[in-house]
Amino acid sequence: MEISDDNDETIFFYKDMKYSLHNFNYQLELLLEENNRLHSKLNLSNILLNIDDNTFINYIHNKLSVNKENIKIIDDYLLKNCNHEIIEDYIEGGVEDDMIKIKYCSKCEMSI
Ligand SMILES: [Zn+2]
Repeated sequence: MEISDDNDETIFFYKDMKYSLHNFNYQLELLLEENNRLHSKLNLSNILLNIDDNTFINYIHNKLSVNKENIKIIDDYLLKNCNHEIIEDYIEGGVEDDMIKIKYCSKCEMSI
């Protein structure tokens, strides 16, 4: 298998982009939660911007699903194109459970 620094650079780029998308979605979900909370508390039809047709809320939902699709595409790309370097690690399984062994790639950080 050919190992190239260029390939690693590309993998790191997409890996970081994926984490940015996850973070972006987290912020969007917080925004929706806050909107729902205020919506039920104040019994107003729309909190986020004063738009009766829910355009802004629909935009956020659409953005969330587009981001999720792109995350899937990046995951597929990483799995197929990374020159994986698999490492093993142990994580806690819960209060009374044993440690769980996991395998993941140190470059793309995908579970293998
Ligand atoms: Zn990898």
